[in-house]
Amino acid sequence: MKHPLQQAEYAQSVADDTQMPPPGPPEIAFAGRSNSGKSSAINALAQRRRLAFASRTPGRTQQINYFRLRSGALVADLPGYGYAAVPRALKRHWEAFLGRYVETRQSLVGLVLIVDARHGLASSDTALLDGYLASGRPALILATKIDKLSASHRQSAAEDIAKAVAAAFPAHVAQVAVVPFSATHRIGIEPVEETLGAWLTPYAAEDAGSRIAAERPKEKAPRSRGVPRGPKRPSQG
Ligand code: GDP
Repeated sequence: MKHPLQQAEYAQSVADDTQMPPPGPPEIAFAGRSNSGKSSAINALAQRRRLAFASRTPGRTQQINYFRLRSGALVADLPGYGYAAVPRALKRHWEAFLGRYVETRQSLVGLVLIVDARHGLASSDTALLDGYLASGRPALILATKIDKLSASHRQSAAEDIAKAVAAAFPAHVAQVAVVPFSATHRIGIEPVEETLGAWLTPYAAEDAGSRIAAERPKEKAPRSRGVPRGPKRPSQG
């Protein structure tokens, strides 16, 4: 699956649990602190200027924006967290929502976590991973704004994030990959597309399989979803 986010279209916005689309198509979620560069990363992958847009008052008008990919898969742009000026009750509401979402969303096949490479992994990022990784599903961390670091610090910034993940989640190291990334300089686009494509490919194959089965009504369509493949590790080697 080449350029999985290209031609992504806005689908819907969701303000709370009751409005969530019923789990069906495979879903990839993008999460990150406010101002981490999440909207820019989505736009860079979609090759669109303003598919995802940052709120002018971060944290105030929080919602999940859903985008539909060519393949029918969904991208969930989750509300940015960690913005200091957000009222405490609202902060708690969205933290609880994010926790529930990454732990229980059935159709979620992979989590893309956006981390500012200059700041590294924050405790709020670790909290989100903590809820998510127990499910065994893969995560890809984009160490973004890497263009702001000198060439000699780019690789080490991504490695520091990988080390922080390994220290916090020694049992889940194989589920997490870190990619040096820049939306503005289009660094890391290809390995990210490769990983997202690999996450979605088993489901695309299943769709094709059930279509063939549907043409032969006497045979039962295969039911098993299979286990999503783990991310590749483009930052290594
Ligand atoms: P969001 O709040 O996480 O959606 O963050 P945005 O995508 O709106 O980005 C926050 C700020 O960081 C904006 O001023 C962006 O222009 C800037 N930014 C985002 N990604 C990059 C990047 O890869 N390189 C540089 N230099 N700036 C970036």
